[in-house]
Amino acid sequence: MNSPKETKTPRNKSAAPATTAAPSAFNPVDEHGRTFFEVHLEQLAGALDAASPASSVRKILGQPKNQIVVNFPVRRDNGDVELLTGYRIQHNNILGPYKGGIRYSPHVTQDEVKALAALMTYKCSLAGLPFGGAKGGVSLDPKQYSRAELERVTRRFTHDLGSNIGPEYDIPAPDMGTNGQTMVWMMDTYMNGLGPQNKNAVRGVVTGKTLASGGSVGREKATGQGVMYCIDQWAEDRNFNLDGSRYIVQGFGNVGSHASVLMGRAGASLVAVQDQSGAILNDEGIDPVDLKQYVGRTGGVAGYPHAEAVSRDEFFATRADIFIPAALEFQLGAHEAELLKVKMVVEGANGPTTPEGDRTLERRGIEVIPDILANSGGVIVSYFEWVQNKNSASWDLREVDEKLKAKIVAAYTRVRDTAAELNVSNRTAALAVAIRRLDEAYGERGIFP
Ligand code: NAD
Repeated sequence: MNSPKETKTPRNKSAAPATTAAPSAFNPVDEHGRTFFEVHLEQLAGALDAASPASSVRKILGQPKNQIVVNFPVRRDNGDVELLTGYRIQHNNILGPYKGGIRYSPHVTQDEVKALAALMTYKCSLAGLPFGGAKGGVSLDPKQYSRAELERVTRRFTHDLGSNIGPEYDIPAPDMGTNGQTMVWMMDTYMNGLGPQNKNAVRGVVTGKTLASGGSVGREKATGQGVMYCIDQWAEDRNFNLDGSRYIVQGFGNVGSHASVLMGRAGASLVAVQDQSGAILNDEGIDPVDLKQYVGRTGGVAGYPHAEAVSRDEFFATRADIFIPAALEFQLGAHEAELLKVKMVVEGANGPTTPEGDRTLERRGIEVIPDILANSGGVIVSYFEWVQNKNSASWDLREVDEKLKAKIVAAYTRVRDTAAELNVSNRTAALAVAIRRLDEAYGERGIFP
């Protein structure tokens, strides 16, 4: 493998460094005013028609099993008390314990978490994991909270969730705005609600923990690694040489930055990045390792000295081969899909493409590797972490990566073959594969009583 591209000077040398933030956009509804969950239901309906399940899954999957909403007070550092709202939505657990991340973002709503929980059910089913689907979130902007405040938020939220989570019942993980430290606080709070003899048996109550507290090697980069394995498969299928190719990335957090570093190792050149702080471009390539360090220091890509500031539209219109959305839902609508000059989109984020965006991409012949396949690396390695915790085992990185690759490649192949079999898009095929497994389980177990 090649080493990451070196940083070059900006294409437009007279341009000032990217000090002016390009506006980032968040829309809670698509072009037709539909919410994330409503859009998900439309996509699900298409996949149910294609998969034609025999059991009653069509009715069951339309709503989550449980929706937990907690309002809890948190003391700010200045002594003020704030009332926050947190959600845990448990969509389905026919295949195993509920599983899914916890998001800290000002955009968190019950509708968003519902859609994300449903996607987890299909992601786990598609990957062949013994997990159901769930998601959680707290509506807050983590950038406005100190570390001590975030610890109090996390511990109080976990305490209030109480027995609604558990290592054999519902297992949270990191997502946008949360990380390994957040998971360690959750684990420690959960443990301290038990007697001392039981504490160490419940490490697996959360995954995505830090290594020192029972996490797995390879979990932090796992989602980006899964994105990379999907791109590798896509390139292999098409005889496309990644070495020397160009890609653009939206969101340079956990998923976007790790995927970028791995793409750099494959010899691909990162030419434009957009995040909450702005958008940057360097036609000759941006060093993802250096940018990751910069974002670690500053919180965003704006002002990065080895690139120029561009607008959001200029970012989407950058000539490249691959686009990796790795930020939020509904970022790629019809407008952005018209702007794109890429061959394919690999969805690191959950739900980044609106149905109109999908239609525009299809018309333009731009292929999509859908979220429940492309970003499943995170939950797959979360599963490995849970298994290691259960067995007091510790795998090395080679073992984790090999097992991850095998699962992603198997899922990728099933989606590709099902798309051909049913003559549907990759998104519909991915959902159809997931629905078939759920249908089989419901068919065998029936409806209680
Ligand atoms: P993160 O918090 O580490 O990073 C989020 C990134 O999105 C940041 O760069 C932020 O600046 C950017 N962003 C936020 N709002 C934006 C906006 N309006 N426009 C452009 N950029 C914006 O989050 P993450 O863990 O990397 O998650 C990113 C996406 O990947 C989410 O959709 C998440 O659900 C999904 N995902 C994450 C994991 C995981 O393991 N972390 C697994 C599967 C899927």
